[in-house]
Amino acid sequence: MPTPRVEINLSKIKSNLRALLDIYGKKSISICAVTKVVCGNVDIARVLVKGGIKIIADSRLNNIKKMHHAGVRSKFMLLGPPKVSEIDSIVRYAHISLNTELSVIQKLSASALVQGVEHQVILMIECGDLREGVLPENIELLVTNVLPLKGIKLVGIGTNLGCFSGVQVDQKKMDLLSNKALEIEKKFGIQLQLISGGNSANYNWFSSTKEIGKINNLRLGESIFLGRETVGNKRIPTLFIDAFTLVTEVTELKSKPSLPYGKKGGNTFGKLVILKDIGIIKRAILSIGQQDVHFSGLSPKGQIKILGGSSDHLLIDPKQSKLTVGSEVRFNLNYSALLSLMTSPYVHKTIIPIK
Ligand SMILES: *Cc1c(COP(=O)(O)O)cnc(C)c1O
Repeated sequence: MPTPRVEINLSKIKSNLRALLDIYGKKSISICAVTKVVCGNVDIARVLVKGGIKIIADSRLNNIKKMHHAGVRSKFMLLGPPKVSEIDSIVRYAHISLNTELSVIQKLSASALVQGVEHQVILMIECGDLREGVLPENIELLVTNVLPLKGIKLVGIGTNLGCFSGVQVDQKKMDLLSNKALEIEKKFGIQLQLISGGNSANYNWFSSTKEIGKINNLRLGESIFLGRETVGNKRIPTLFIDAFTLVTEVTELKSKPSLPYGKKGGNTFGKLVILKDIGIIKRAILSIGQQDVHFSGLSPKGQIKILGGSSDHLLIDPKQSKLTVGSEVRFNLNYSALLSLMTSPYVHKTIIPIK
């Protein structure tokens, strides 16, 4: 088998999805599955759709196009403020987009009219994380301007927390979103289908709240794929955290000093590496590098210790493990490791099918 490779266990993804649909479904919250961290992988997308997902969301139109062309039968939602340079393709390939700028929604409207289709929009409200969103006091004016636009259907409002600055989801912020939904529905005499409260960072709020209000949708990536909520990075009970495994290969194994010798300057990345002298140790080189993965997101499955690395070498202390040259070494992944590995064209993606 080729290395480095990410083994993708579809059964575990399916099982995580089922558990999350069950957990959130108990309070009538629907789930959009967010595929950006897996780069819109088509095999995974098919499992999501088969598992009951009706809307797949992604921040990159290229991923949505790929899934569309592969025949993935789902509605597609484009996350993040849309690019003006992509308007026509967005209307063509995405059924829904998350928006904050009137000028962009006007362009989506013009394009939808030309293409003879309806494009659905969700307006994002800023709740303090300071990435995308209109300030709460400006949302009604935006709704006023969006409602008359032809070819555009306002289907909901949403917010996003815990991303850019890690601001946490709390009852006050969710109440704000719920109340805005109520106000908009009342003032404009419309029904909003989706009140989309956030992402995998909403889990703790959801598990402890007595009042979900009008929140009826979440957009989940990390908790489906890695089984974790994203505030304390804790495992969600019964979910798998190892649906994805990195497998690398030992290319050198020798006993060498633990302390580098010679006159020292910066390393490949201009950093000064400081190491402690613990005598002669066994050292192994694994064939994977910073070009492929954020090292800090790797957790070795065995007893080994990561020493550091460069563009395409990862150095480990094999400790007591019985590695030889050519042995495979496996790692669990966090979000940033998974994101980088799925994005690297040098890393094979090996699907482990559902039995
Ligand atoms: C990435 C993203 C999500 C999903 O976040 P996870 O932490 O992976 O659940 C949801 N909404 C928006 C707007 C996003 O950009």
